[in-house]
Amino acid sequence: MTQSPSTSNATTSATAYRAAILDSLGDPAELGLENSYRYFEDGMMVVENGRITALGHAPEIMKGLQSGTKIHHYEDALITPGFIDTHIHYPQTGMIASYGDQLLDWLENYTFPAEQKFVDPAHAEQVSEIFLNELLRNGTTTALVFGTVHPQSVDAFFSSAEKRNLRMIAGKVLMDRNAPEALTDTPESGYRDSKALIERWHGKGRLHYAVTPRFAPTSSPEQLATAGQLLREYDGLYMHTHLSENRNEIEWVKALFPEQNGYLDVYDHHNLLGQRSVFAHGVHLCDEECQRLAETDSAIAFCPTSNLFLGSGLFNLPQAEQHKIKVGLGTDVGAGTSFSMLQTINEAYKVMQLQGKKLHPFKSFYLATLGGARALQLEQQVGTLEPGSEADFVVLDYNSTPLMSYRMQQAKDLEERLFVLMTLGDDRAIKCTFAMGELVYSRD
Ligand SMILES: [Zn+2]
Repeated sequence: MTQSPSTSNATTSATAYRAAILDSLGDPAELGLENSYRYFEDGMMVVENGRITALGHAPEIMKGLQSGTKIHHYEDALITPGFIDTHIHYPQTGMIASYGDQLLDWLENYTFPAEQKFVDPAHAEQVSEIFLNELLRNGTTTALVFGTVHPQSVDAFFSSAEKRNLRMIAGKVLMDRNAPEALTDTPESGYRDSKALIERWHGKGRLHYAVTPRFAPTSSPEQLATAGQLLREYDGLYMHTHLSENRNEIEWVKALFPEQNGYLDVYDHHNLLGQRSVFAHGVHLCDEECQRLAETDSAIAFCPTSNLFLGSGLFNLPQAEQHKIKVGLGTDVGAGTSFSMLQTINEAYKVMQLQGKKLHPFKSFYLATLGGARALQLEQQVGTLEPGSEADFVVLDYNSTPLMSYRMQQAKDLEERLFVLMTLGDDRAIKCTFAMGELVYSRD
């Protein structure tokens, strides 16, 4: 799996990175564990003009390097694609770790008050910066992000992401009922504001827009219809919302939409399912709903820390696998309790254990990288180290804490090292984060 570096320039701007290198080739549920990954114990990756141009065993790649290529050598470290967070709320950064409630009370008591502050563009700007710093500190290079109902919240977020040249997806919340007046729009204003944001940001640099109804209970049928209309009017838009997170929520949706055949059907009825539609949670789904998600090529964001923190339930990953639904991992900050995809994997493992199932480290790794990219239809760009893709990657440190370092000494192979990294690792394990070949975070 080697490719020669591009030879367009005599004086090269290429940079080579030498370390153990791992990326995912596909879902272990489809390919089997052995065929699901690619690993170079002494690997080298070459990056030029923001893209990966070569990947392979270091001694082989070095033979083809152009003179003047800078080489960065990381000892006792692992290079992987940057992590992909398929569901997160940037405006909830300041209310992570809020005590005591389950979903519906938690929204009312913590979320809605926090989101009202985003009427102020200066506040939105400040939180966007803090949020993106946190993502990069945790090795996450792409995320699907909720704003608030305020268009200025999305302007602030995209401005910060554009400055750092990150591949990010976000949208303004659509919410025209069952929320405080300061946080509601109308079908008309929500449509108009979304349209203006799409015109301003969608496809600009590495940014994409997501039409973002918060969840069925806070949008009228009229508003959900305008969401479907937006998706028809523009190419490549995402649709991002919540689905079947909590039992009381599901009952509420049934009461609000008695004419529809369940929660997913409310979205389906308004043409909101499709290959760029991402539904957070899907903790309580029946087989018919899974089948419908699969046949429309819609994706689920599995958010274990949030599901445990809010006591929502245990996501049934094997059910999603059986139905071949695309699944990515989400932190769902602020209901989620960590920005770290490693900690998210750690909790995903426990969610599976509580259901008598195992979550293999190669499957977790797939979900956090290529699986997330597939859920977002971005596997040609990110989530992989395949030559030609965008150079969004992280350098993970096997010795990030004394305990991890000691534990790693007992580890026999890659599989075990990866599992230890995912169980004991957090932001401290992220040594460097790169986006489009540029260093965007360095721990040391
Ligand atoms: Zn959420």
